[in-house]
Amino acid sequence: MPAPSSTFRTEVLVIGSGAAGLTAALAAARNGAETLLIESAGFLGGISATLPWLGFHDRDYRLIVKGLPLEFCQRLQALGAASHHELDPKCASAISIDSHWWKILAMQLVREAGVRLMLHTQVVDTIREGDRIHGVIVENKSGRQRIEAAVTIDCSGDGDVAARGHVAWAKGRTADGLVQAPTLVFKLAGVNRAGFIAGCKDPAINYREWISPYPELREKMMRRLDHMHVIICGGFAKLVEQARAAGEFNVPQTRIVGVKLHQPDQFLVVMTRVLGLDPTNTASLTDAYTRVYEQIPILVRFFKKWVPGFEQSHLGEIAPMLGVRESRRIMGDYLLNAEDLIAGRVFDDAVSMGAYHIDIHRPAGTWVDSHNVRAYTIPLRCLIAHDVDGLLMAGKCLSATHEAVASTRVIPICMGQGQAAGTAAALAVKRGGGVRQVPISELQDTLAAQGAEFGRTVGEPNWQAIDEVGQLPFDEPPTTGDKDSASSAAGAWVPSTAR
Ligand SMILES: Cc1cc2nc3c(=O)[nH]c(=O)nc-3n(C[C@H](O)[C@H](O)[C@H](O)COP(=O)(O)OP(=O)(O)OC[C@H]3O[C@@H](n4cnc5c(N)ncnc54)[C@H](O)[C@@H]3O)c2cc1C
Repeated sequence: MPAPSSTFRTEVLVIGSGAAGLTAALAAARNGAETLLIESAGFLGGISATLPWLGFHDRDYRLIVKGLPLEFCQRLQALGAASHHELDPKCASAISIDSHWWKILAMQLVREAGVRLMLHTQVVDTIREGDRIHGVIVENKSGRQRIEAAVTIDCSGDGDVAARGHVAWAKGRTADGLVQAPTLVFKLAGVNRAGFIAGCKDPAINYREWISPYPELREKMMRRLDHMHVIICGGFAKLVEQARAAGEFNVPQTRIVGVKLHQPDQFLVVMTRVLGLDPTNTASLTDAYTRVYEQIPILVRFFKKWVPGFEQSHLGEIAPMLGVRESRRIMGDYLLNAEDLIAGRVFDDAVSMGAYHIDIHRPAGTWVDSHNVRAYTIPLRCLIAHDVDGLLMAGKCLSATHEAVASTRVIPICMGQGQAAGTAAALAVKRGGGVRQVPISELQDTLAAQGAEFGRTVGEPNWQAIDEVGQLPFDEPPTTGDKDSASSAAGAWVPSTAR
């Protein structure tokens, strides 16, 4: 390997500017640390830039992600670039954002906080001496550079810093290492909102399989549908079957998965799909891109011909990067697991929260496996890489099992982890020691003072919302559809007490 041509030094170094990394960098800088954010793309936000944000609330419709992520929502709303939080019985809540304005705002936030940025820059190696991570080696148009840091935060989504620094990681489900199926999302424009809603109201079409077995819940949804700004879909199986029988649908997907966005004519399609991806293998990734680009025209034609309200629709925008739901998970001082989530565990070293259901897009089958959870906390130990000093992580590479990360992976929850990691890193720098030496009460008090939620101010269930929106039973029956034998839904991960 050629020697780096220059060396940079920073107190906190964040790799990856997705939901987790962007928030980590902002939190570190706002808490006084000199912060450098490195991103391989030419924009900020990672895949959060193309999706609605799910799961700010729990199943009791209490706001459980606050702090910086909530500030992002409020600033977008002030720009007229986001909906309000739409409550939902399966996903708890959704806020639809304008992708372009989020990228603009993210850049502005970084500038305001004084975060130094390096775009189009790829981490290619990790600087490790003994048991300490000292930073990374990067490559970009300017060549190869050495970047030294007191604390490095791996928010690459792929655990790239950990993997290159020989820090333990795991990938995929226990049985065969396969990760959740990836999806390249795209937007359809020119959708007739009224026609679409009329279709959703047709019981024969069954636009949302989660709610259809519960007539009272469905009735509540039907009453709200006309006024909803964000409508989450997971159903329409009959239409997919009919199109497949007609030889017009050969995508490994059996339901319409997508979101009617707050822009009246726009719909986000979350249906391209590749089975058996290895997100850390370039040949596999390239193959995945080839396949999803073949699937998009099939799906555009399917919507126009078969789905009510889409007759005049057209392809609006394709996301700039393949949506990889799961990749390397870095082993931390604690491994968050499904039982923690289902029980709604409160850890002494809690630093953020989550409550989104365990939502596994089957790695080798179709549709999803799901299990509801209670509002749970995420301990600081899940953000600290095990057996080394100087390395934190947040977002998709959190220390969590395949099942737990299927909940913690949604955008607001990744942002909450990012705020905690960035704040912990800044406090460690201030004290001149490692993150493990920061007293947990100091970190928690700092996070609380900056509006973050980790269980202190959640409050009572929102009874009015429960009445208006309804609740799914906590123990819903498992989803149907073609599961493969190694699927998580085989049951190994659901504790017997929760079945
Ligand atoms: C198809 C799909 C649909 C989803 N739908 C929703 C939804 O509707 N709502 C929701 O809340 N969540 C959704 N999620 C989950 C959620 O979007 C992601 O899990 C979350 O955004 C992950 O954030 P992150 O910061 O961990 O990773 P990412 O957003 O993947 O960010 C990682 C960043 O690191 C950069 N990077 C990677 N490697 C390197 C490197 N070596 N050097 C430099 N930079 C690097 C990448 O370019 C990227 O910007 C969805 C996920 C997928 C895949």
